[in-house]
Amino acid sequence: MDELLKPLTEGNRRALSRAITLVESTRDDHRQRAVALLADLPQRQALRIGLSGTPGVGKSTFIESFGTMLIEQGMRVAVLAVDPSSVRSGGSILGDKTRMETLSRNPKAFIRPTPSSAELGGVARRTRETIRLCEAAGYDVVLIETVGVGQSETLVADMSDLFVLLLAPAGGDELQGVKRGIMEMADLILVNKADGDLLGTARRTVADYAGALRLLRKRPQDPQGFPKAIAVSAATQDGLDKAWQDMRELCDWRREQGFFDSTRADQARQWFMAELRAGLLSQLDHPQIKAQLQKLGDDVAKGALAPGAAATGMLKRLGRVSAE
Ligand code: GDP
Repeated sequence: MDELLKPLTEGNRRALSRAITLVESTRDDHRQRAVALLADLPQRQALRIGLSGTPGVGKSTFIESFGTMLIEQGMRVAVLAVDPSSVRSGGSILGDKTRMETLSRNPKAFIRPTPSSAELGGVARRTRETIRLCEAAGYDVVLIETVGVGQSETLVADMSDLFVLLLAPAGGDELQGVKRGIMEMADLILVNKADGDLLGTARRTVADYAGALRLLRKRPQDPQGFPKAIAVSAATQDGLDKAWQDMRELCDWRREQGFFDSTRADQARQWFMAELRAGLLSQLDHPQIKAQLQKLGDDVAKGALAPGAAATGMLKRLGRVSAE
């Protein structure tokens, strides 16, 4: 049994941090240890909430206020980030401790920034494993934050029980260029900054989005009235309680109807396939194999070999298809 397992399941944050570092490592021996540790984790469930919004919309302010509110209600809260910009820059922006100062000092909170310098697929895998570690460590809510860029939203939605979109109040009816696909993923749209001078605009924005959501096809896993848009203020905390109530209502309903577990089961299946694909792809990441791929690629480029034949030949060499 791994020495980290006991302190981790007792909720020791240092042990949790070390376990996450382990799952983030690409070293073979670390990977083996991580896989064994993950297999030994007790089955505990946190509510996994995906949260997306463009920079400046108020994600960190929201997480700070919302997380603190949940902790005041007796829960423990973990915050993780999936940040494609850090993947590009090698830096880490989201989940930065200085962004959520009050929360990060709270012993019932755990904040982990995005692992730096990794491709998005790798970040996704580690985040899934990190969610499991946080659950095993007894966190009640895991917030998975992402900026609204590229594929990160789909990834986060695919590992969450609930997907929340944070938007800013906006004039006019342009709906802030939110893509239809992202609207379709959202269970709850929170129009933030509904305070002070922005209150009126925020209310109109809520009405616009509520109208847009009604035009989307109703999903079988949603009760009456969902997905919905509401106004919140991360700064004054207005509406945060209502947001939490809505999240709970949606989850309770899905649990009762069986959608909660079936979604998790589908996600586990997808995770397995993603791991398998990653494992197969990593077999190509070998100097000898790379040289062969280069050679075959050259032959294909010259027209000396058909692309399909080259691929089949390579798969045979990897032992992935039978030789007959
Ligand atoms: P993030 O980039 O999405 O994490 O956004 P931040 O949480 O850093 O917030 C961006 C800016 O919006 C900061 O200046 C915040 O003070 C401000 N802000 C965030 N939430 C609210 C809110 O509810 N009301 C108002 N008026 N300002 C807010």
